[in-house]
Amino acid sequence: MRDESPIFPIADIVENYGGDPTYRGGWSPMACPFHGDRNASASIHHGAQRFCCHVCMERSEDAIGLVMWQEGCDYKAAVEICESITTADNAPATKKAGGMSSMFD
Ligand SMILES: [Zn+2]
Repeated sequence: MRDESPIFPIADIVENYGGDPTYRGGWSPMACPFHGDRNASASIHHGAQRFCCHVCMERSEDAIGLVMWQEGCDYKAAVEICESITTADNAPATKKAGGMSSMFD
């Protein structure tokens, strides 16, 4: 059995587009980086590696599907974009302080 669909960490992809993923069990609410969200209209699921915005997306997507949706590119190009995002040494040394998370506590 071959699984030719690579799994990329959805949080890395969402962060690349300016998102600030929250980390909770199951679907974690977060502001959508794709439509200038000021609320937490989107959800990210780190276990399933899926992202869904309830405003601008019709269904949840994995990392590749999200890139395809956002870039309007095909699957192969999306994989390459995901690879470039997740292999780039773009891990921030310090997380932004504050941000959305405090709103939910
Ligand atoms: Zn959205």
